[in-house]
Amino acid sequence: KKISADDIRKSVAEEDVRFIRLAFTDINGTLKAVEVPNSQLDKVLSNDVRFDGSSIDGFVRLEESDMILYPDFSTWSVLPWDDSAGGKIGCLTCSVHTTDGKPFAGDPRNNLKRIIGQMKEMGFTAFDIGFEAEFHLLKLDQNGNWTTEVPDHASYFDLTSNDESASCRRDIVETLESIGFEVEAAHHEVGDGQQEIDFRFDDALTTADRVQTFKMIVREIAKRHGLFATFMAKPLQGQAGNGMHTNMSLFKGNQNAFYDENNEYHLSKTALYFLNGILEHARAITAVGNPTVNSYKRLIPGFEAPVYISWASKNRSPMVRVPAAGELNTRLEMRSADPTANPYLLLAACLSAGMAGIKEEKMPMEPITCNLFTLSEKQRNEMGIKPLPSTLHNALKAFKKDKLIQDALGEHLTQSFIDSKELEWSQYTQTVSDWERNRYMGY
Ligand code: GLU
Ligand code: MG
Ligand code: MG
Repeated sequence: KKISADDIRKSVAEEDVRFIRLAFTDINGTLKAVEVPNSQLDKVLSNDVRFDGSSIDGFVRLEESDMILYPDFSTWSVLPWDDSAGGKIGCLTCSVHTTDGKPFAGDPRNNLKRIIGQMKEMGFTAFDIGFEAEFHLLKLDQNGNWTTEVPDHASYFDLTSNDESASCRRDIVETLESIGFEVEAAHHEVGDGQQEIDFRFDDALTTADRVQTFKMIVREIAKRHGLFATFMAKPLQGQAGNGMHTNMSLFKGNQNAFYDENNEYHLSKTALYFLNGILEHARAITAVGNPTVNSYKRLIPGFEAPVYISWASKNRSPMVRVPAAGELNTRLEMRSADPTANPYLLLAACLSAGMAGIKEEKMPMEPITCNLFTLSEKQRNEMGIKPLPSTLHNALKAFKKDKLIQDALGEHLTQSFIDSKELEWSQYTQTVSDWERNRYMGY
């Protein structure tokens, strides 16, 4: 939907919007915002809100620390709650520009637009994405800090009509709908306290913007219910982790380029080549889609998370699944990524890998028809099935070798990503944990 500057002016006046939140995303996928009072509306609408980017992760370059926010008007929404001063907050997702007006290369959103531009040059009109971002609701302690205690012990699709998590989940859904999300499903997931809320697929940029807003809303509403929401990949040991299944398709006009009614899986050649691109760059994509130390504690057998680079139509153990669907919804579901991923970087990486696959015109390996976890390593090797990286360190190594995925992020973001993640890994390896003390103190 098109929204003009005048529409925003009208909305600010009619809905008593007192503050305008200008949001953007840093390298780690964290939503950042500059909030200005409504007296600054003219500046907002004429791309004139400036901020000092030097302390934002991944923006760091002192000589170019002044940044300008260019709001994307189509992202305008008014949060349905009042701030403490009694006025409403309007939100705009922005692109970050340098003071000479150019898109800033360190902004993940600009970068995704760049890769979408390459896709359009190939003749496609949209990269459609549906995310399934799972999360946990946890109880707070007396001081308002998170605990590892869950508010419910329900399981997959359980109906728990009277517990706090079910009412919190409904409140989240209603809030999302009130700001224009089309929520398709909400349910309890397998783990204690684990939830999933799915909103309708849309083009990649829109969906990346929305998942950032989604996470902000989930956290905020959870807080209002006296709960804590986490999108950490594996918050509770021995229980299901949080995935962010990424459903992908390419469109030409209103035609789904991934659909072919004559193929056994209803996948076109384009889809199969795209799939092969994803599988070939899977290890480097994992660094981007599973960017935390903890992400790799989810990618283990036994919890419906993938461990091996492969695909299947029904089976949930491989990295990519082809869900049964009609023409418009024919898609590839990449099951490896988790919600700690920066969605802009993840989609840039997936789209680049897929486009490379389409150009290469190579068929993917045969789909898997068995449970991969019951095979021996020898059997898997014979079938040509390799594992996903087992740690952030190994994923980073793969990322540093994969020129295509680095190009998908561009030079600035690649360097910030490597710097940020290497620091994270080295902090982790230097940490002496309780597990080690319990295990080795008696030595
Ligand atoms: N929670 C699982 C994961 O870690 C996915 C469960 C599902 O299939 O929805 O990916
Ligand atoms: Mg799920
Ligand atoms: Mg799924």
